[in-house]
Amino acid sequence: MKCFIVTFGCQTNEADSERIAAFLDKKGYSITLNQNEADLFVVNMCSVRQSAVDRVFGIIQKIKKIKSENPRVKTILTGCILNKDKNKFKEFFDEIVDKKYYLKYSPKYQSKSEALIPISNGCNNFCSYCAVPYVRGPLICIDHKKILKEVKRVAQKGFKEVWLLGQNVNDYTSPSNSIVNFPKLLKMAGKIPGDFKIRFTSPHPKNFSNELIDVMANSDKIAKYINLPVQSGDDSILKKMNRKYTVKQYKDLVKRIRKGVPEINLSTDVIIGFPGETKKQFENTAKLFKEISFNIAYINKYSPRPGTLASKMADNVPWEEKKRREKVLIKLCLAKK
Ligand code: SF4
Repeated sequence: MKCFIVTFGCQTNEADSERIAAFLDKKGYSITLNQNEADLFVVNMCSVRQSAVDRVFGIIQKIKKIKSENPRVKTILTGCILNKDKNKFKEFFDEIVDKKYYLKYSPKYQSKSEALIPISNGCNNFCSYCAVPYVRGPLICIDHKKILKEVKRVAQKGFKEVWLLGQNVNDYTSPSNSIVNFPKLLKMAGKIPGDFKIRFTSPHPKNFSNELIDVMANSDKIAKYINLPVQSGDDSILKKMNRKYTVKQYKDLVKRIRKGVPEINLSTDVIIGFPGETKKQFENTAKLFKEISFNIAYINKYSPRPGTLASKMADNVPWEEKKRREKVLIKLCLAKK
């Protein structure tokens, strides 16, 4: 029997799909990359961004067509699903499956060189625009011994890149030993023998410690790359986003990182057109972009996610204006190249 898996959303969801593949393997399914030969169609969805939710509708049309040609094809929906989306989609799938059924499985990696290893699930931060705390639930950290065992296993198999994944890696504490925070976990992972690099995502700027900067500076195994999501360059917007840092604190952190790890590559995530964002407030973000000169920026035009605090605020920046602001930031990024 063959199964086709479609994954939406972030790297954590991609890592979950590798656990779905392992779970299905035990049930006698092999993974196919050809959707036309699948007996089972699994959609691992993401409710975090509206664009990902919209794309599920595109897949549903495809599934309907496949089912009309072969009614025995089974369909499963899983992943990060808001209750509202669950109700919307349930009529199109044979089953909706909760993550708890497959997250305990050791992954069946899709890549032979890159291993995605979650260090935690969920998040307690409640940034006002973000649906993760609602769809993934509260933060649950995975035991450091289990993580290190997995890093060792993939290193021995010859993987070249290991990604440690958490919604905010800086919130990590091992459940079996509270001394083991994220920098200590990273340091231990960096001591595992093998020809591989370690990357991680994402660290929240509000609790990025000097200890983490030291660990990065002192290990050749850790890639000199950080995705440090700024989200806005304006203090009052950051406050409305519940990000718990100011622009000055963010800039000081970048200075500390660049001093400690001079060869660092910095990327960021930014949201433009957050509810109530004025032209002046956006200009503050553009100013920050000029000052920091990120290597890469992931620019997201704001769209509300149901259930979040921000979704109760008026989404009052017109789409055309969001597109204009996006172009301004893209231009600034290109000017640095
Ligand atoms: S830290 Fe904020 S943006 Fe990141 S997952 Fe948690 S709530 Fe969402």
